[in-house]
Amino acid sequence: MSDLKFITKILHHPFLKEDPHGSLHMPVYENVAFEFKSAEESELAFQRKKPAHAYSRITNPTVEAFEQQIKAVTDAVGVIALSSGMAAIANVLLAVAGQGDNIVSSKHLFGNTYSLLMSTLKDWGLETRFTDLTRLDGIEKLIDDRTRAVFFETVTNPQLEVVDIRAIADLAHARNLLVIADTTLTPPYAFRSIDFGVDIDVLSSTKYISGGATTVGGLIIDNGTYDWRKHPQFAEDARQFGPFTLINRLRRKVYRNLGACLSPHNAFMQSIGLETLPLRIDVSCLNALKIAKFLENERRVKSVNYPGLETSKFFRICQKQFGTRPGGLLTFDLDSKEECFRFMNKLKIIRRATNLNDNRTLILHPASTIFCEYAPALKNEMGVRETMIRLSVGIEAPEDIIADIKSALGEL
Ligand SMILES: *Cc1c(COP(=O)(O)O)cnc(C)c1O
Repeated sequence: MSDLKFITKILHHPFLKEDPHGSLHMPVYENVAFEFKSAEESELAFQRKKPAHAYSRITNPTVEAFEQQIKAVTDAVGVIALSSGMAAIANVLLAVAGQGDNIVSSKHLFGNTYSLLMSTLKDWGLETRFTDLTRLDGIEKLIDDRTRAVFFETVTNPQLEVVDIRAIADLAHARNLLVIADTTLTPPYAFRSIDFGVDIDVLSSTKYISGGATTVGGLIIDNGTYDWRKHPQFAEDARQFGPFTLINRLRRKVYRNLGACLSPHNAFMQSIGLETLPLRIDVSCLNALKIAKFLENERRVKSVNYPGLETSKFFRICQKQFGTRPGGLLTFDLDSKEECFRFMNKLKIIRRATNLNDNRTLILHPASTIFCEYAPALKNEMGVRETMIRLSVGIEAPEDIIADIKSALGEL
């Protein structure tokens, strides 16, 4: 199975245990508890000497089948599916850094992630040091002996900034730091994180993977590349568990105790979505490029930002890391917030909704929505302008979307 292409592997990955009815898709095991044949069997299961499901918050066959599909296509050592992308980010950061520790990141982040770092985790004594990650010299200055990780988004939402991942990974690894990437905008298939030095992916599978925004979910993908002996809190575990150190810590402690598990029904939906992920990514990226090119030539549009455009300053690094698949998100600027609102209200096909990588094209004014809780100066630092519109390009016929935009621009 190992030399098959992504989509073939997803569709034909064998189950860990054969289904008694020969079901082609792992059924939904919508139950809580699993029975043991004897007390001895249950002891073995709890001691992890014999793999078995016991309780669905901890593991579940449907959730496990989804995790195994992801593991097969990423070559990760372990995958954990969670109830949301935010749960994935929080679980990983809480597992690798403690009170008094710090991580290095950028202010160019998804709004809720920024809030997690700046309020929730900060209140618990975990500090985030922000810098411009497109410049390596800033990172070096922030690192001290309590720094545990560098955390960034592969394509930032909504600034669409793209960092040189290999360069950041080399710098971080030279200082024994973990490299954690939020790969929501470029999930597996668009980006092979293991080839660029990322140790751990965290992502919102709500977006591209769920398949048309069917369910909320998140993933932790551990590439198994970090040497845990170099991490002060893990040195002892590392001798016993080697590359499985983090997955083990999550399964036995952080993930199990926080209880943000993916429901079996959502795992089923996400696994079905995964089957068509490559088709949907290819179409949405192609559509996004067509729409970005169209917008570049429109008089009312002040600027267009799509890292797949040759005119983007991130074009070359983007090609190196994601090939022709930098995701389906683009932004553009009109004259004012009022003009943005007028334009959005004139659209007939494109939907006004806050999600991305739906099958439908969605539009949002980030400054007045996701980022509304932040003061103007901070929004500015976060690269969120009042004149900016975010478009998440779907899989419709691109000419229909272009016609919708053209007609709304024409009415301004
Ligand atoms: C949506 C999103 C998240 C959060 O994911 P949820 O599934 O909504 O919790 C995190 N990071 C990025 C880049 C996102 O776009």
